Amino acid sequence: MKLLDERTQIKQVAARWRAQYSRGIFASDDDKQQIQRQLDALDTDNATTDDVEVIIGNGSWVEPEECGECRDVTWNIVELGDDAENADKRLPVCFLCLCRAVTLVSPQLDLNDLKALQDE
Ligand SMILES: [Zn+2]
Repeated sequence: MKLLDERTQIKQVAARWRAQYSRGIFASDDDKQQIQRQLDALDTDNATTDDVEVIIGNGSWVEPEECGECRDVTWNIVELGDDAENADKRLPVCFLCLCRAVTLVSPQLDLNDLKALQDE
Protein backbone atom coordinates (compact mmCIF):
# COMPACT_ATOMS: atom_id res chain seq x y z
CA MET A 1 0.00 0.00 0.00
CA LYS A 2 1.42 3.40 -0.90
CA LEU A 3 0.30 7.01 -1.00
CA LEU A 4 0.15 8.61 -4.45
CA ASP A 5 -0.61 12.20 -3.49
CA GLU A 6 1.11 15.13 -5.21
CA ARG A 7 3.95 15.60 -2.68
CA THR A 8 4.75 11.87 -2.59
CA GLN A 9 4.88 11.72 -6.37
CA ILE A 10 7.20 14.74 -6.48
CA LYS A 11 9.47 13.17 -3.85
CA GLN A 12 9.67 9.91 -5.81
CA VAL A 13 9.98 11.23 -9.36
CA ALA A 14 13.82 11.23 -9.45
CA ALA A 15 13.96 7.60 -8.31
CA ARG A 16 11.25 6.60 -10.76
CA TRP A 17 13.12 8.34 -13.61
CA ARG A 18 16.34 6.58 -12.57
CA ALA A 19 14.62 3.20 -12.51
CA GLN A 20 13.34 3.79 -16.05
CA TYR A 21 16.32 5.53 -17.68
CA SER A 22 19.56 4.54 -15.93
CA ARG A 23 20.09 1.28 -17.81
CA GLY A 24 20.54 0.01 -21.34
CA ILE A 25 20.47 2.45 -24.23
CA PHE A 26 19.12 5.21 -21.96
CA ALA A 27 22.25 5.23 -19.77
CA SER A 28 24.14 7.02 -22.58
CA ASP A 29 21.24 9.28 -23.60
CA ASP A 30 22.43 12.78 -22.69
CA ASP A 31 18.91 14.21 -22.63
CA LYS A 32 17.68 11.55 -20.20
CA GLN A 33 20.73 11.97 -17.97
CA GLN A 34 20.40 15.78 -17.99
CA ILE A 35 16.80 15.40 -16.80
CA GLN A 36 18.03 13.00 -14.10
CA ARG A 37 20.51 15.58 -12.80
CA GLN A 38 17.78 18.23 -12.69
CA LEU A 39 15.36 15.90 -10.89
CA ASP A 40 18.09 14.94 -8.40
CA ALA A 41 18.66 18.65 -7.67
CA LEU A 42 14.95 19.39 -7.19
CA ASP A 43 13.87 20.74 -3.79
CA THR A 44 11.18 18.11 -3.36
CA ASP A 45 9.81 19.71 -0.17
CA ASN A 46 8.80 22.82 -2.12
CA ALA A 47 8.78 21.92 -5.82
CA THR A 48 5.49 21.95 -7.68
CA THR A 49 4.02 19.66 -10.29
CA ASP A 50 4.71 22.43 -12.82
CA ASP A 51 8.42 22.43 -11.83
CA VAL A 52 8.62 18.73 -12.63
CA GLU A 53 6.74 19.21 -15.89
CA VAL A 54 9.19 21.92 -17.00
CA ILE A 55 12.14 19.59 -16.35
CA ILE A 56 10.70 16.49 -18.00
CA GLY A 57 8.74 18.22 -20.74
CA ASN A 58 5.36 16.66 -20.00
CA GLY A 59 2.98 16.24 -17.08
CA SER A 60 2.70 12.47 -17.10
CA TRP A 61 5.20 11.79 -14.31
CA VAL A 62 3.39 13.69 -11.54
CA GLU A 63 -0.35 13.83 -12.00
CA PRO A 64 -3.62 13.06 -10.22
CA GLU A 65 -4.54 9.38 -10.41
CA GLU A 66 -7.83 7.80 -11.39
CA CYS A 67 -9.59 5.84 -8.66
CA GLY A 68 -10.00 2.25 -9.78
CA GLU A 69 -13.36 2.04 -8.02
CA CYS A 70 -15.28 5.29 -8.79
CA ARG A 71 -13.07 6.65 -11.64
CA ASP A 72 -12.69 10.09 -10.04
CA VAL A 73 -9.32 11.66 -10.83
CA THR A 74 -7.75 13.04 -7.64
CA TRP A 75 -4.55 13.55 -5.66
CA ASN A 76 -6.09 11.75 -2.66
CA ILE A 77 -5.18 8.25 -3.76
CA VAL A 78 -3.71 5.19 -2.10
CA GLU A 79 -2.49 2.34 -4.26
CA LEU A 80 -3.41 -1.09 -2.91
CA GLY A 81 -1.63 -4.27 -3.96
CA ASP A 82 2.08 -4.14 -3.33
CA ASP A 83 3.22 -6.02 -6.42
CA ALA A 84 5.93 -4.01 -8.14
CA GLU A 85 6.30 -6.63 -10.86
CA ASN A 86 2.63 -6.76 -11.80
CA ALA A 87 0.86 -3.44 -12.38
CA ASP A 88 -2.39 -5.29 -13.12
CA LYS A 89 -2.58 -6.31 -9.46
CA ARG A 90 -2.24 -2.75 -8.16
CA LEU A 91 -5.41 -0.73 -7.56
CA PRO A 92 -5.52 3.03 -6.95
CA VAL A 93 -8.35 3.90 -4.54
CA CYS A 94 -9.53 7.39 -3.55
CA PHE A 95 -10.22 8.59 -0.01
CA LEU A 96 -14.01 8.40 -0.41
CA CYS A 97 -13.90 4.81 -1.71
CA LEU A 98 -11.58 3.86 1.16
CA CYS A 99 -14.23 5.30 3.54
CA ARG A 100 -16.96 3.35 1.75
CA ALA A 101 -14.88 0.19 2.12
CA VAL A 102 -14.44 0.81 5.85
CA THR A 103 -18.22 1.12 6.31
CA LEU A 104 -18.65 -2.23 4.56
CA VAL A 105 -16.44 -4.02 7.07
CA SER A 106 -17.57 -1.83 10.00
CA PRO A 107 -21.23 -0.94 9.38
CA GLN A 108 -21.46 0.78 12.77
CA LEU A 109 -19.26 3.60 11.41
CA ASP A 110 -20.91 6.52 9.64
CA LEU A 111 -19.67 7.40 6.16
CA ASN A 112 -20.11 11.13 6.75
CA ASP A 113 -18.05 10.94 9.96
CA LEU A 114 -15.25 9.23 8.04
CA LYS A 115 -15.41 11.75 5.16
CA ALA A 116 -15.12 14.57 7.71
CA LEU A 117 -11.74 13.17 8.82
CA GLN A 118 -10.21 14.36 5.54
CA ASP A 119 -10.87 17.98 6.47
CA GLU A 120 -9.35 17.76 9.95
ZN1 LIG B 1 -13.00 6.34 -5.62
